[in-house]
Amino acid sequence: MSVATGTKKHVFAFTEGDGKNKKLLGGKGSNLCEMTQIGLNVPPGFVISTVACLEYLDSPSRELPAGIMDEVRAHMRKLETQTGKGFGDAKNPLLVSVRSGSALSMPGMMDTILNLGLNATTLEGVIAQTGDRRFGYDAYRRFIQLFGKVAQGVPDERFDQQLEAVKQQVGVTEDVALSADDLREISERFLQVVAETTGRSFPADPFAQLELAIKAVFNSWMGKRAVDYRKQFNITPDMANGTAVNIQTMVFGNRGEDSATGVAFTRNPGTGENKLFGEYLVNAQGEDVVAGIRTPKPIDWMTAEMPQLATELAELRDKLETHYHEVQDFEFTIERGRLFCLQTRNGKMNATAMVHTSVEMEREGLIDKQEALLRIQPESLEQMLFPRLDPEVRAEPVAQGLPASPGAASGIAVFDADRAEQMGKELGHKVILVREETKPEDIHGFFAAQGILTSRGGKTSHAAVVARGMGKPCVAGAEGISVDVERREAQVGASSFCEGDVITIDGSTGKVYLGEIPTVEPDFTQELDQILEWADEVARLQVWANADLPDDARRAVRYGAVGIGLARTERMFNAVDRLPIVIEMIMAETPEERQAALDRLLPLQRADFKELFQVMAPNPVTIRLLDPPIHEFLPDERQLERDLEALRSLSETMRGVTVLEGAIGLIQAPDKHRAEINRVRRVVDPILVEAAIAKKEAMLHKVRVLYETNPMLGHRGVRLGISFPEIYRMQIRAILEAAADCAKAGIRIQPRIKVPQVCTQEELLWVKDYVDEIHEEIKQRDGRPVDFQFGTMIEVVRACMEAGSLAEVAEFFSFGTNDLTQAAFSFSREDAENKFLPLYSQSGILQNNPFEVLDIKGVGKLMELAVEWGKEIRPDMHVGICGEHGGHPDSIGFCHRIGLDYVSCSAPRVPVARLAAAHAALLAG
Ligand code: PEP
Ligand code: MG
Repeated sequence: MSVATGTKKHVFAFTEGDGKNKKLLGGKGSNLCEMTQIGLNVPPGFVISTVACLEYLDSPSRELPAGIMDEVRAHMRKLETQTGKGFGDAKNPLLVSVRSGSALSMPGMMDTILNLGLNATTLEGVIAQTGDRRFGYDAYRRFIQLFGKVAQGVPDERFDQQLEAVKQQVGVTEDVALSADDLREISERFLQVVAETTGRSFPADPFAQLELAIKAVFNSWMGKRAVDYRKQFNITPDMANGTAVNIQTMVFGNRGEDSATGVAFTRNPGTGENKLFGEYLVNAQGEDVVAGIRTPKPIDWMTAEMPQLATELAELRDKLETHYHEVQDFEFTIERGRLFCLQTRNGKMNATAMVHTSVEMEREGLIDKQEALLRIQPESLEQMLFPRLDPEVRAEPVAQGLPASPGAASGIAVFDADRAEQMGKELGHKVILVREETKPEDIHGFFAAQGILTSRGGKTSHAAVVARGMGKPCVAGAEGISVDVERREAQVGASSFCEGDVITIDGSTGKVYLGEIPTVEPDFTQELDQILEWADEVARLQVWANADLPDDARRAVRYGAVGIGLARTERMFNAVDRLPIVIEMIMAETPEERQAALDRLLPLQRADFKELFQVMAPNPVTIRLLDPPIHEFLPDERQLERDLEALRSLSETMRGVTVLEGAIGLIQAPDKHRAEINRVRRVVDPILVEAAIAKKEAMLHKVRVLYETNPMLGHRGVRLGISFPEIYRMQIRAILEAAADCAKAGIRIQPRIKVPQVCTQEELLWVKDYVDEIHEEIKQRDGRPVDFQFGTMIEVVRACMEAGSLAEVAEFFSFGTNDLTQAAFSFSREDAENKFLPLYSQSGILQNNPFEVLDIKGVGKLMELAVEWGKEIRPDMHVGICGEHGGHPDSIGFCHRIGLDYVSCSAPRVPVARLAAAHAALLAG
């Protein structure tokens, strides 16, 4: 309580305000208090609290809280004493800045007024004191414009018109070329503008100015810019509520050649190098630097130009870092040889600089390892693993899709996987595979492409999952693009691109560009290794990888994965040499025919698994039995119909050729024509055409037989394994034989067999029977058992509810949160992100996309129950997560809290997950 008035205290001098209370004093205000209190040379001032702002905004006729102006007057008197100047004094006037500042930084979103206290009288004082008329009038006209705009609502253009008019009149183009008299005329015109626009004269009384300015800053909290900004960045009232007002003595960097203004980082924000980084301008005001009116000089030059001040600046830098234990981004002004620090905040840096400075500052003893880890956002590490678009290059995107797999790539657009392979692999072009959506059969196109762009599908669509697994950029669901595969062309708004045109995609932002945009290469540094090593020391959760092929696994190992939590075997079925055998297996009419095809697949799968085991040895490799519905391995119905149409017309043409051959005698054509006809018949053998038609017809028939209205809830996962036991048996045999081979070769491995889509214990027992039988056979053959584990995916709601009974059979659980999210919400993982989810997040119905950020309240609750019930039956149950959430930092925090043993994510997310696992452990205490 303020003693004098009996009202609440709303105003705090920089010397007394709590430097940590951002909610009350705003970020800037609390910082100014802290800076003052640690002995930095800060121009004196005081802060009006955010509470005052809220009371003001709540009052029916927008009145300042009672007694607040008395408090302000008292503080102004103190400022007068401190500075030896008088507010409104004609000889030695005190001028102040009035700035906004809420608990969270909202750059440029609220209002600021400088040089407050100027009027016709004080102006004379400023001129007399500085002996510089030009300086005085320049400050005056700036003040009238800013005050007029912010506090009186006069549009900027009205002032600008007058400024331009005077410039034209005197024949100059730059503000700096205006003389004192010109500036005086401009000030007079500006006063006139205010009077004409508002119907009132410009307030001359400094306290009247101050009161209006305070109200204007408070009002700017509810201004459109600020409200939109808070909405955009989800800034809720519990994060920042109301703005404080900072009133601070003005200092001037434009008082001559011994004055300057500048901004600096205590270390280089681009590289992290331990060297002051910034710019300054002699004889200038802060806004000249920001507005880019004059080109500032690199901070290094100060050593030669102002050696004493360069030393003081270096001391300021050391003081800032020693106090804040963090790289600072600060603003300074030099007024007549005196250095003032106006503002400081934690420097925003790119990931490379964050990692570099973390390691260096730990070595310098400025921070400890925990702080070194916690100051880096796990998500940001992705920047260090993928190429990025060159931030220097400005380009307009033509479409926006979902950022489905990070990284940027350019290449020529190709519209099908075969073409991608041909152009990419055979002809050595860089290609971007453009599809409506991708299917497993497109996999060879993925291998050949630099990146993938689809016009449909979400972040867990096939394209997204496969691209992430491979570490290739992918923009999915760019619905603004309409893809015409037949014509090899894509329409984007008014423009289009065709096969062969170069496009660029940015999988980190979801943006698509025409033409080539240069990229910046990734930077996996020694310092990153160091940080991740520290992270592993404190993390409890292990980080495994989702990796299907040996190359993915190698990359995962390089990034520090200590196991494979999910190897999707369907990827192996899609390899070019396997797909025809897989199709043969699907087309088989009898179990014997199917077995014959599977017998050919067995050695190939065994070799796949053996290589995976070897790459990961001695760490675990979890192989999931086949999951997708088998029709996914066949071409789609439309494609087959088109193929058949083409083949039938070719067959008709060949019939025509035969008829022509018979007719040749009738028309007595020369012999050379007969030879030509024969050549055509040799090139296209009609028997071959008929055989192709028969095969495609059979495939079309099969596709129609296998058709399901809702394949994601259909004949897939363990259901497939039960109705086509030969497929699972082949895979189980391949796993166990590969494991036995490794054991014989003395390689220590930990194989795990995982069953997808399980919802009852009976399903699991059914598959376990296959496993036991095949294991027994191998045991008999080799005279020793195979060491492995048998477990299940938990990705069906019923599996969570039945976790106890599943735990009687399964030795491990692996949460498939992609499907579990789909099931829990009844949102299609293929479509939701492109249809209603954006609206849901915009309108605040959902805070996050649940396919990206684990829904803790729903899906998380199911997981928690499953862990609890599973562990009741099997206390040493090993539990992990392999859905996409396994690579998401917040979701990893939750996994830590519910006691999972590991998270598994695509290889390129592994470093992110390692740091997030460390954060989870540190923040859990
Ligand atoms: C899952 O559902 O979370 C999962 C990992 O399996 P998939 O994405 O292959 O369905
Ligand atoms: Mg799944």
